[in-house]
Parts: sequence; C-alpha cells; structure tokens
Amino acid sequence: MDFNTIKEQEQAYILHSYGRVDVALDHGKGCEAWDVEGKHYYDFTSGIGVNALGYCDDGWVKAVSAQAARIQHMSNYYYCTPNVALAEKLAKASGLCRSFFCNSGAEANECAIKIARKYGEKKGAHKIVTLKNSFHGRTLTTLAATGQDAFHQIFTPLTEGFVYAEGNDIADLESKLDGSVCAVMLESVQGEGGVVPMDEEYLKAVRALCDQHDMLLILDEVQTGVGRTGYFFSYQGCGILPDVVTTAKGLGGGLPIAVCIAGEKVKDIFAPGMNGSTFGGNPVASAGALEVVSRVADEAFLEQVREKGEYFKEQLLKLPNVEFVRGRGLMLGIKVKNRDAHDVLSACAKAGLLILTAKELVRFLPPLTITKDEIDAGLKIFAEQIQD
Ligand SMILES: *Cc1c(COP(=O)(O)O)cnc(C)c1O
Repeated sequence: MDFNTIKEQEQAYILHSYGRVDVALDHGKGCEAWDVEGKHYYDFTSGIGVNALGYCDDGWVKAVSAQAARIQHMSNYYYCTPNVALAEKLAKASGLCRSFFCNSGAEANECAIKIARKYGEKKGAHKIVTLKNSFHGRTLTTLAATGQDAFHQIFTPLTEGFVYAEGNDIADLESKLDGSVCAVMLESVQGEGGVVPMDEEYLKAVRALCDQHDMLLILDEVQTGVGRTGYFFSYQGCGILPDVVTTAKGLGGGLPIAVCIAGEKVKDIFAPGMNGSTFGGNPVASAGALEVVSRVADEAFLEQVREKGEYFKEQLLKLPNVEFVRGRGLMLGIKVKNRDAHDVLSACAKAGLLILTAKELVRFLPPLTITKDEIDAGLKIFAEQIQD
C-alpha cells in the first residue's frame, strides 16, 4: 500500500489525538527500519524507548514466538510460569520485593498511587507530592499527578490530592509537607519534560526526607528503567533505593507490559481483590520481558550503554550547531541552535533518520543494542540536517 492511501485511511478512521510524522514503517532489524515504500531509516527512537533490544532481535522473537505457540493468555486466577520467573528477576534486579504487572506506564503509576494512598491511611495522609514539569501518564489520575498546567486544563475535574514541587529544590519540597503527604513521586530524569536530570544530592535528600516524615519514595522509571540510563534502574546510579518503582516502556522489548515493584515497607500492602488487570503479566508479554531483563540486567551490557551514551555526547558536542547535550546513558536531549526541534525531526525523517523531540529539545532514545557504526551513520545524517 502506498503512503498516501495509509495517511487518508488514518485521517478517516482514527481519532485525531496524535500529530504524526509522514512515515509508515513496515519492518525493521536492530537499529534499522524500512517504510512501506522501501525507504531505509536509522532509528534513534526505539519507539519512544520501547524496543530496548532493537527491532526483531533474534532471541526476543524466539522467546515470544515460542510462548505464543504454547499458551498465549491465561487469567490471573492461575499461576503463570514466565510471569513468576520475570517477577523473580525483577526483584533481584531492583533490590525491591514484589511486582504488580499491568500494561502501560500510566497503569503502573496508578498502582503506585494506590499503594501510597493505602500506606497513608494509617495516619490520614493522602496527598502525593510530584514535581513541576513531570510526566506520569494520560489517565485522569496520572494527568493530575503530571506537574504541568497544560495537561490539567481540558478534562477537569481531575483526581484530587496532588501537590507540585520544584525539581532539584529540596527546600521547596520541604515547604509542601504538612502531615497530609503520604508519598513523593518523581522521575530521576524528566523525559517528556525535556530530558531534565535530577541531581544525585537532591535524590539523596528526597530519600532522607521521605524517611524522616514516613512518606513513600516512588520513582517513575517508566522511561528511565530497564537499562536506559546505563543502570538497570536509574536510582542504582545514585545510591538510593525507592520504596516503589514503576517501569514500562523498554520492559517488554516491544510488547505492552508494565510493572509496579514494591519494596520491603509495602510488600504486604495489597490483599486479594485490591488491584487487578485482565492482561497484566500476560504470558507472551512476560516471555518477551524475560528475554529483555535477562540480557539487560548484566553489568557488561549496562557498562556498554554508559560508554555508548558518552560516545554520543562527545560526537554531538563536536557539531557546531549543538548548543548543549543533557541526559544519562542512552537517554539524550540535544539543544540545536536556531532551529525548531520539530523542524529538525521532519528534516531527519526525510533524510532517513528517526528521532524524537521533548519540549524544545531533540531527543534520542536509540535501542540499547545500537553499535558504534550505527551511531556514526545516524549522526552523519543528523549533522547534515542541522548544519547552516
Ligand atoms: C511514557 C511515560 C509514562 C506513560 O506511559 P504509558 O505507557 O504511555 O502509559 C509515564 N511516566 C513516564 C516517566 C513516561 O515517560
């Protein structure tokens, strides 16, 4: 099918909630993809940090296909082998205890919020502090948790009980605490907010404040988790342990699966019936995730992610029109001088390189398996598109 027919079909039959790029991908392998008309692209997006092992990784395809041919779904009334194996791996990789599986980042955050509300019940505290410029999802409650006014205006009334503090400002966070707060929820690097990292000292201070006031520390690692920053979870790069962590995007290697992992303090918080999800922990998605976690939760693999992140930064900073680069590991935000990020994105797509934006920055979230040659090939296209 030619591109214009697909675009017309989309316009006619899909609700207009996305601003799309003029690309219809057909197939891919590793860091490369081809569109319906056979045009080749390097991919610095991995589908917004989802295809952690790249397109159609051999081990992942094998794991998922074998599970699809064995049993594709069972309800959560029954015990599911790949799902419990995944939960054990995640407990070991996170330093936390017990998982609740669901299907999207927003749903995992909803679970974390429920845990916080239940935890705060004993002292009558129900408020959750989140950060300004954060992004926590699109459900009505996670929109309320998202600390950006633009997300609060259309679908009111939203869920009550969220208070917003300035990131990297411990005094501002402290000023929001009045005994009614049961948890602090934040991203260690704000992804959608423009790849804004929180300082290590700030994260440590938040941890200490949470201990001092008996509040849960919830880290939203929906984007930063599963190796993205060069650590399995980003908090492992700054020496703290949250009480609850959520992750989603990269977890299934391209299949919809998300998780909320509870630490020691809250591992017994739920009783049967308190939370659930029809597809949560689905065997096929779990088998894909098991392959991803087995490969990524490995010190040599993670070290390579950090090295490739540094290499990206070095190469990018050599380009005269790059104003700055920020982020951690293979989560990179780039400010291009005198150019609108969306224009750069469109120009790159035309030239055969897929990239993302975040606020006024260009954003790269390449597959974690990207090679140096692929980085060079993609950056060559990028350099040509941003030169004067
Ligand atoms: C993408 C994202 C979400 C929402 O995830 P969905 O799977 O789209 O619901 C939540 N938090 C962060 C930090 C994200 O990057």
